[in-house]
Amino acid sequence: MTHLTLQAVTKRFNAAYAVDSVDLSVPDGKLVCFLGPSGCGKTTLLRMIAGLETPSSGSINFAGRDITHRPANQRDFGMVFQSLALFPHMTVAQNVAYPLKLRKTAKDAQARRVAELLELIQLPHMANRPVTQLSGGQRQRVAIARAIASQPKLLLLDEPLSALDAKLREAMQVEIRLLQQRLGITTIMVTHDQREAMTMADEIVVMEKGRIAQVGKPLDIYRDPVSEFVADFIGLGNILPVTYDGTGGVSLPGGRRIAVAQPARMPESNSDIRLLIRPEDVCVKSASSDAGPNRLAGTVTFIRDVGASLEATIDCAGFTLTAATTPRETPGLTLGMPVLAELPPHACKLIAARAAR
Ligand code: ATP
Repeated sequence: MTHLTLQAVTKRFNAAYAVDSVDLSVPDGKLVCFLGPSGCGKTTLLRMIAGLETPSSGSINFAGRDITHRPANQRDFGMVFQSLALFPHMTVAQNVAYPLKLRKTAKDAQARRVAELLELIQLPHMANRPVTQLSGGQRQRVAIARAIASQPKLLLLDEPLSALDAKLREAMQVEIRLLQQRLGITTIMVTHDQREAMTMADEIVVMEKGRIAQVGKPLDIYRDPVSEFVADFIGLGNILPVTYDGTGGVSLPGGRRIAVAQPARMPESNSDIRLLIRPEDVCVKSASSDAGPNRLAGTVTFIRDVGASLEATIDCAGFTLTAATTPRETPGLTLGMPVLAELPPHACKLIAARAAR
């Protein structure tokens, strides 16, 4: 069942389009991430769903009703913003109880719900502590508990983890995801961090200049991006300008030909084609291995060995490739070493080049 649908939602600020004709369905109980670079319109889109911004045109439907012009306080959505906006003069319990108090929930029901929520966010022992005396991660959990206190039908999160350090941020990503799954609450989260979106989302909406560039499951987008913009934004990738011969082969910069997977959708113009191969698909072989059709001679010019994983940059005369491997898979790799980089045809994807700016 689809909970939330947007039809041709557009927002102009003067003449500039912040959001341009967005159509989207958000399924019930799922976590959807709006992902894209700064200024692509993620926050504006979320604010229109929240009712904090009015669309210039288009409509927003929720649970079968048109809510385009319904005020924010009548939408029953929970929200957490980057700033969290907890009330500093209140305790943890008072902050969580606040939306219940606004709704004039009976005192004993309020107390029960607050106890339940503090249990859920694993802070029952901190009920009476002022929120100013909490760590960043604890504050984060309180903000989420407050947002879900009155059992909203939709939870909207705008970069809620951006103020946290890397380690805590990763822990909170997992925590929020588990909580969301346990409660089954439909959630939309804005982020510009592709790893965060990959970790948390059922579906990612990649945005570019106010429009949707691609919607799909994280791994589907990672494996099958529709354009250079999406390929570049989601994960690391080797992206090379190539020409396609129409029969399963491409010419690389420098003229070498290799076989590629037959593209499911061929980019429109043959002159604007890129080959995408993810670093983990580039196999590094010793230079003395057989020179197969998709094996390219190169020299190792950079190695990042962090123990569990190893990344090597290989100069192939005309272009460079990044290969992701492990010290166990490729022992003895050293700078300046000649190697063969194998690009398996099934991992070589052809995509449309980014439009000229
Ligand atoms: P970020 O990741 O930096 O927050 P974003 O993807 O959330 O970016 P938005 O904040 O939605 O992007 O902004 C989209 C565009 O709309 C930007 O060009 C921004 O400058 C513009 N914009 C946003 N709010 C306003 C406003 N109130 N008045 C005028 N222009 C605005």
